Amino acid sequence: MNKDVTIVGRFAPTPSGPLHFGSLVAALASYCQSKSQQGQWLLRIEDVDTPRVVEGSDRQILQDLETFGFEWDGEILYQSEQFEYYQDSLSALIERGHSYACECSRRTLRNIGAKTGPMGQIYPGICRHKNLDPTIHSVRVNTDAITASAFIDQVFGPIELNIRDQVGDFVLRRADGIYAYHLAVVVDDAQQGINQIVRGADLLQSTCLHIFLQTLLGLPEPEYLHLPLIKNMRGEKLSKQAGATAVDTTQPSKLLVSAMHFLGQSTEPDMDQASPEEVIRQAVKVWNPASIDPAGK
Ligand code: GLU
Repeated sequence: MNKDVTIVGRFAPTPSGPLHFGSLVAALASYCQSKSQQGQWLLRIEDVDTPRVVEGSDRQILQDLETFGFEWDGEILYQSEQFEYYQDSLSALIERGHSYACECSRRTLRNIGAKTGPMGQIYPGICRHKNLDPTIHSVRVNTDAITASAFIDQVFGPIELNIRDQVGDFVLRRADGIYAYHLAVVVDDAQQGINQIVRGADLLQSTCLHIFLQTLLGLPEPEYLHLPLIKNMRGEKLSKQAGATAVDTTQPSKLLVSAMHFLGQSTEPDMDQASPEEVIRQAVKVWNPASIDPAGK
């Protein structure tokens, strides 16, 4: 990235439960990636999917971040306060003929034998030319022209997805009015001026969808760095849904040091005896994204 551009990174937790080790790793890595380049680190609460939000978990996450010694820049952005911007982008896409309303249910798709790809059912575009009312139906994006969306990830290297054949026309707003994460994240990142995105590798393929939407909306494409996923003893991804346990806030420095190890960063002996603020300062100093092993430690 051009040396004169201020780096703006972010941490964007979903408030569906307390901070777990995977989110701590994402917080630390995104913080180090920005701060090691004298950048800013913004915070966004991803509460777009309101039924998944657990009351009070945003406050808990913020409190946990403070316990771990993180300081964020500027105001916190809540996706639940962004709906008018998501709607504006959606309307622009509909107006330009890139998006359309769709009345198909999951069952309809099953009945017609729609194939399943890496991101679920592949929508074959049945409603593309029906001109249905977008205020009462779900809204999809037309992917007919996009056979390959690609980017170079700073840890995982070249990533490519044939969106038309492997994903199909994906939903941007559900029939119940909830905006899709893919639309929200693209609008928010542009609005917050984010130019370096650091997040878990569960979103590697989604990034191809985000780049596609950025192109349609005329938004800048940030740089991407995805982090290896933390697996449990059964080899499954650690996530809030899979019952990942909350981080132990009584030993913040110890957990930060574990997060650094997981990210392949060098640590000093007895570092976990220092305050969390000091561990973070050290982490920024030694930060070297080239040491991150895509397979995780
Ligand atoms: N909200 C997502 C999560 O908590 C992260 C999305 C992102 O960083 O773009 O897993």
